[in-house]
Amino acid sequence: MAIILEGLTSCPICGSTDLSKPYTATSGAFFDEGDELWPYCDAPLHLECLAHWPHRERFSRGYFDLWRAEAKQGNGVLLAEAHLWLLRCGPAKPEATPYYVVVHLADWPVELYSRWEQWMGYSAHTYREGLAGAALKAADAAMAEVRRLAPDLDALRELRRRVLLTSH
Ligand SMILES: [Zn+2]
Repeated sequence: MAIILEGLTSCPICGSTDLSKPYTATSGAFFDEGDELWPYCDAPLHLECLAHWPHRERFSRGYFDLWRAEAKQGNGVLLAEAHLWLLRCGPAKPEATPYYVVVHLADWPVELYSRWEQWMGYSAHTYREGLAGAALKAADAAMAEVRRLAPDLDALRELRRRVLLTSH
């Protein structure tokens, strides 16, 4: 998570340090220092600002593709993916008990992160906390699809078992 100092850190899209409105932040800088998107990495971004920001899709897709590649290289297990989201859990070792589940959105720089054992409540409603407007709508749409696939822990376990079977 980005280092955010209240009153000092600003949203680079609007320049405001007012972080009382909902915002998100990515971890780490995915884009090179020379890239026009570099100043937006590791910084708080208001959801409202992101909704109208012309670079949102390229920015979000950068992180999304990175996470897909990471999962394929063993940073967690890629359980399922669709056009606008991917579902990952971890850790990756088959014998380890998973402790997190995360849904990455393709067109918003938002990660929906849950403790493994809290997945039922998280995927039903807790993921909405801190989200608003168009970002919430995107999360709702993705979560509705993810819930059909992984409505509970048994379904998650079964997805994980199948993925691990085919990858080892
Ligand atoms: Zn802003």
